Amino acid sequence: MSNPIRIGVAGIYHETNSFAPGITEVEHFRDQWVEDAITFDKKYRGTRTSMGGTIDAAESNQAELVCGFVTYATPSGMVSAAAAEELMDHLIATLPTEVDGYVLFLHGAMVAENHDDMEDEIVRRIREKAGPDLPIAVTLDLHANISQSLANRSDIIVGYDTYPHVDMYERAVEATDLLCATIRGEIRPYTAWKHARMLVVPQTMITSHNPMKALLETAWRMEKLDGVLAVTVAGGFPYSDIPDAGMSFTVTTDGDEQLAERCLDELTQLAWSIREQFQFPEVTVEEAARWTREQTEGPIIWIEGSDNVGGGSPADATHVLRFLVQWNERSLIVIRDEEAARKAHELGVGAELSMAIGGKSDELHGDPVAVTGKIRLLSDGRFTHQGSYMTGKEEYMGKTAVLELEHMTILITEKRVPPFDVGHVRSAGIRPETYKVIVAKSAVAWRTSFGDIAKGEIFIDTPGCCSANLSHFQYKKIKRPIYPLEG
Ligand SMILES: [Zn+2]
Repeated sequence: MSNPIRIGVAGIYHETNSFAPGITEVEHFRDQWVEDAITFDKKYRGTRTSMGGTIDAAESNQAELVCGFVTYATPSGMVSAAAAEELMDHLIATLPTEVDGYVLFLHGAMVAENHDDMEDEIVRRIREKAGPDLPIAVTLDLHANISQSLANRSDIIVGYDTYPHVDMYERAVEATDLLCATIRGEIRPYTAWKHARMLVVPQTMITSHNPMKALLETAWRMEKLDGVLAVTVAGGFPYSDIPDAGMSFTVTTDGDEQLAERCLDELTQLAWSIREQFQFPEVTVEEAARWTREQTEGPIIWIEGSDNVGGGSPADATHVLRFLVQWNERSLIVIRDEEAARKAHELGVGAELSMAIGGKSDELHGDPVAVTGKIRLLSDGRFTHQGSYMTGKEEYMGKTAVLELEHMTILITEKRVPPFDVGHVRSAGIRPETYKVIVAKSAVAWRTSFGDIAKGEIFIDTPGCCSANLSHFQYKKIKRPIYPLEG
């Protein structure tokens, strides 16, 4: 019996919105900082995360996992050059050695001031240390902006197939299984890449619906072909202004370059032929209000996609809040405001809080809005994911306060927390099903929180760094022409 396979794991994971206010520093990664096997196992075993998937797949392959540096930060603005260097230096310094291959947990849309394509730079540095031949499997988010260079450096690429993302576990199992098969000499993976020349907004990337469904079904049909190992449909992330931003595909075959190219041609042609379906209509707040009044049942989800917290926005945009405070339907909104959260904790439950909240990041996301309400509940902002998205993951919103106004409830949080799990409001004693309107600062991921109780949904057009209207943005680096900036 030969020695068991040894798999090194590492990852730096960030979705960078280069239009978002603020710079992302190393501090933003500290909450999710893992660099030893015991912490890695404790944090991720049994979870439906990529790391949980690799733990289980390693066991089923009788492989040994060797833990390197794994970290993550909530999507936000540009990563500073200093942070990028510190994170990569740490990853390389702690990179497991004497392993047979690596599984890397990367996003695909991480951008630093000094590197447009962070994933490519990370894999380049790993190759520099580990050599050109050691097999590397990379897991990527569906919103990855993949480049030719990253595909060249990676043996295996497996991206998520779902948005909202509920299959990171399965995709990491797939990547780890393929890596183990490579190490055992059963396959010789070859990964090819092609760009679709399209910029797509997250709102139209819901994978259970067309047009994404059509692309994924094509990918899954290809995965059944002899010699095809993995096909990734990457919707891309249009808020990273880098040369290769946008939709692209990777095909990993068992050493068959022509087969990979044929699959890529078919996928890019299909994407181009349905490009108009990726256009996304929205309405003004006033139109949304009129339509909502006509609905007899709630909750109606007001999707404030321009302040999509999961996409890197500040979570304190006030364009919708400003309307709701003077409206007379019962509504719920979550606003990040450190100052207000701390003040509420100083005042205590039952006290009145009167101050201007939100709108403190930049001009794009609106000005602070004056509110007066009663502090109904204070919490430490900790909860555990119970829904389908990363079930079991612990979340931390910082100091959290429930502010009750005459017609609305405002959940004030100290930190930016995307509405990925209904626990973010339920943990603060809020029953979301009792509201006529719930504002979701999200593009799509809110479905894992409120999808079960929503009686309707409407997309609101407001300014913000995740706006679905791409003509609002001044792209500087992206390769042109690209649809829909040019037809
Ligand atoms: Zn994503």
